[in-house]
Amino acid sequence: MIGDQENNGRCPLCGGHLSAGITTIPFIFADTAVLVKQVPAQICDNCREPFTIGAVTDRLVDLVCRVKNLHTEVSIVSYAESERVYA
Ligand SMILES: [Zn+2]
Repeated sequence: MIGDQENNGRCPLCGGHLSAGITTIPFIFADTAVLVKQVPAQICDNCREPFTIGAVTDRLVDLVCRVKNLHTEVSIVSYAESERVYA
């Protein structure tokens, strides 16, 4: 039997094992799309679904809101670079 910590390391979608990694997450809106590269996430070994932790999610939402306001059709931004620019 393994403790709660290990249960948290399971994919909520398929139960696969999550590994720390870097991923690209697309945010699609009605009039724009924002692609965020280099996002630190827990990635499912089985279905490849990325999950971000709370602090990363908050920063992602903030970043996407800023970029969305530029009203470009497609934006590609780097999460890692945003930390330097906006920190
Ligand atoms: Zn999964």
